[in-house]
Amino acid sequence: MRASLQLARAGLNVAVLTKVFPTRSHTVAAQGGIGASLGNMSEDNWHYHFFDTVKGSDWLGDQDAIEFMCREAPKVVYELEHFGMPFDRNPDGTIYQRPFGGHTANYGEKPVQRACAAADRTGHAMLHTLYQQNVKARTQFFVEWMALDLIRDAEGDVVGVTALEMETGEVHILEGKTVLLATGGAGRIFAASTNAFINTGDGLGMAARAGIPLQDMEFWQFHPTGVAGAGVLLTEGCRGEGAILRNANGERFMERYAPTLKDLAPRDFVSRCMDQEIKEGRGCGPNKDYVVLDMTHLGAETILKRLPSVFEIGHNFANVDITKEPIPVVPTIHYQMGGIPTNIHGQVVVPSGDVHNKIINGLYAVGECACVSVHGANRLGTNSLLDLLVFGRAAGNHIVDTALKAKSHKALPADAADRTLARLARLESSTSGEYAQDVAGDIRKTMQQHAGVFRTQKSMDEGVKAINEVAKRVGSITLKDKSKVFNTARIEALEVENLIEAAQATMTSAAARTESRGAHTVDDYADSPEFPNGRNDKDWLKHTLYYSEGRRLAYKPVNLKPLTTESIPPKVRSF
Ligand SMILES: Cc1cc2nc3c(=O)[nH]c(=O)nc-3n(C[C@H](O)[C@H](O)[C@H](O)COP(=O)(O)OP(=O)(O)OC[C@H]3O[C@@H](n4cnc5c(N)ncnc54)[C@H](O)[C@@H]3O)c2cc1C
Repeated sequence: MRASLQLARAGLNVAVLTKVFPTRSHTVAAQGGIGASLGNMSEDNWHYHFFDTVKGSDWLGDQDAIEFMCREAPKVVYELEHFGMPFDRNPDGTIYQRPFGGHTANYGEKPVQRACAAADRTGHAMLHTLYQQNVKARTQFFVEWMALDLIRDAEGDVVGVTALEMETGEVHILEGKTVLLATGGAGRIFAASTNAFINTGDGLGMAARAGIPLQDMEFWQFHPTGVAGAGVLLTEGCRGEGAILRNANGERFMERYAPTLKDLAPRDFVSRCMDQEIKEGRGCGPNKDYVVLDMTHLGAETILKRLPSVFEIGHNFANVDITKEPIPVVPTIHYQMGGIPTNIHGQVVVPSGDVHNKIINGLYAVGECACVSVHGANRLGTNSLLDLLVFGRAAGNHIVDTALKAKSHKALPADAADRTLARLARLESSTSGEYAQDVAGDIRKTMQQHAGVFRTQKSMDEGVKAINEVAKRVGSITLKDKSKVFNTARIEALEVENLIEAAQATMTSAAARTESRGAHTVDDYADSPEFPNGRNDKDWLKHTLYYSEGRRLAYKPVNLKPLTTESIPPKVRSF
């Protein structure tokens, strides 16, 4: 919607297709905040933000993209403020900012207050603000239309998409000078996830089927504080406001692991420490399988003002009054760092011959489905909402510039809808086979078991075989109810074809990366004098590219050169 706003305002015809009503996208669930070095509450500047993001990414992030994002951040946040975003305020009227994991002042010295927040409903407020601005600019929404496949012509340019109108079950071709994918993450390839049920990685599936590689899919972020047993997220904003993680002995164990940042170390780090506590028998509860998040010392007034949704979540999903007692939490799948490779204009780029980043004409990707590579091997909290704003706007501007130059549409190829029609025809003609939800369930089980917080080489190798076996079953999914109108079974079956692409990309890329980096932590590649933290820059300071066809892998270098500032050379990460 940030991109479409640029287009609509420039007077272009823009169609936004969405599986759900726009304000129900997963962004609505974002709680904590948007990162920007406004310096409203403590000294800050974009260089600190840049440093934190590079370090947070375990040096896998591209430094040109990271510089671009951190420099643009204040601008896009103020713009959002002027669009009417109801940020929390300081007494002097400026935007309220809270501390967040991995965000520091003076290059790691102390936590900084950088997360611009609207209570713990930041994503909700942002999504509504952008929707209203789009309505004002007369963006055309196609609500409950599911995009199915990209249309590429003989030259490989993208000239449109096929889509299913859910209400009628009709398939349509939408022709466009440009297609921008902003389809969100694939968090539903895992069994325990903070993600919405619609996060099935459709854009990844569309790209993969159209021959476009997926980048860095081995990197999945576990959020330290999912409600144990429920998966629902408790924002890092809780710890930003002062909440503390404790083990069964009541000990604030993060002090031992991260003496400077403590509970506000980055997510991959905190998740591993929690797992370590549980493994060493200091977990809480009858099965010693979780730790607790203690907010009782914050006081009811602060909690109800700054974290009202967290209070409700505690009540509804854990039967805990967080003002009075600590709440059980476990690391839970939260965010995909990888995705469709793009440059800083949002243009999708692929290797071709000696060129690492050849532009695919007519195709852009932005947001969680994209990998411009600002998050590298581990994303810092609040940098994703920022990523949407910065690169949504940049892509929008770039499209406006190019679309205004291109006067006419390219011709649609004769086989534009063939792939889609073949997929649907198979479902229509199936008379026996498995239910989509059973296959999806096994994808999730397999991924949870073989690509969790702690990975081993053996388990990942087995995982590759296991997920490839499940993939074979996707082709025999059957549709018992073949009715057209709002047939959610058909939609689910189509979604499974996207889930499996994301799952195979993840498993294959993970098993091949024989080091530990960021969220990809493998027991076999532990801390050693030669490879501190198990990270091997000599062989693995590079991006993975996974091609669906033949499940082939390729690699491309990480860009360590920022646009204007000095590069931050790889160092050992400690907090
Ligand atoms: C619980 C939770 C809390 C979070 N909190 C924060 C936070 O505080 N700060 C932060 O920076 N990040 C946070 N994140 C991460 C961040 O919210 C997401 O990465 C980001 O919102 C994703 O935005 P998006 O626009 O890429 O995708 P989404 O918001 O997921 O939107 C995807 C859109 O694509 C549409 N779509 C998908 N497939 C199709 C299809 N086939 N056809 C048509 N339409 C389709 C959907 O309908 C939807 O409208 C959080 C994430 C979660 C899950």
